[in-house]
Amino acid sequence: MKNVNEEKSGAVEKFKEFLRQKKMRQTSERVLIVEKIYSMNTFFSAQALHEDINKDIHVSLATIYSTLNLLLECNLIIRHNFNSQNILYEKFPSGANSYYRICIKCNKVKAFTDKKLKKSIDLRNSTAFSIGNHTLYLYGICKKCKEKMAKAKC
Ligand SMILES: [Zn+2]
Repeated sequence: MKNVNEEKSGAVEKFKEFLRQKKMRQTSERVLIVEKIYSMNTFFSAQALHEDINKDIHVSLATIYSTLNLLLECNLIIRHNFNSQNILYEKFPSGANSYYRICIKCNKVKAFTDKKLKKSIDLRNSTAFSIGNHTLYLYGICKKCKEKMAKAKC
């Protein structure tokens, strides 16, 4: 298991290489955005990232969006559309495939791993279709919301 700093410097290197290949400039803003994302352990919206980075240096929201698109292109982040309200991003899960439970009442998202599930998906790997990474969203109602709903009924 890689530690956070190795993971962060690996991501910065991969991004710089990607920019070199695309003949794009390695600006300090772009590098700072990757560093910031790889220091976080949770989902974030473009707006939240923008506010967070602007505590240190001024970066426009347009730069945030364009960098997020580049990071998506080189598989350093993934984009989630858990519900219709907002788009969230996350650093690319290292090694593991991620599964998410999403509460349709309070919109809470919880990530989990499941080795059995992963194994059964891996078995679908064939010559006809090579599986890369996969993500799974399970929609339902969380324990807290279920309790609230039960209380409301009494
Ligand atoms: Zn809930």
